[in-house]
Amino acid sequence: MKAIQEKYRKRKAVYFSLMAAMFGIIFAFRFVPHPEDNGLSPVEIFLVALLFGIVMAMHAVFRCPKCNASLVPGFFSSWRKLRCCPKCGVELTEK
Ligand SMILES: [Zn+2]
Repeated sequence: MKAIQEKYRKRKAVYFSLMAAMFGIIFAFRFVPHPEDNGLSPVEIFLVALLFGIVMAMHAVFRCPKCNASLVPGFFSSWRKLRCCPKCGVELTEK
């Protein structure tokens, strides 16, 4: 039981780091020169790809340690106070 909560804690930490990286990239767009013809510069394409990769990684990482269900939707619908897995009901945090 303890191992699941420990895993959840680590996954949540990774999830938050990825989220921070995502906001960092969105912020970085402001400093990237934008081409006149409304296309995307190679740097912008790279940032979009990176952003996409991070979003994928966020969903891949933030899963229930027991049943592997994605916790991203449940996490936000529970106002970030997710205690149990919405699918298998395992306790994710200690009381
Ligand atoms: Zn579960």
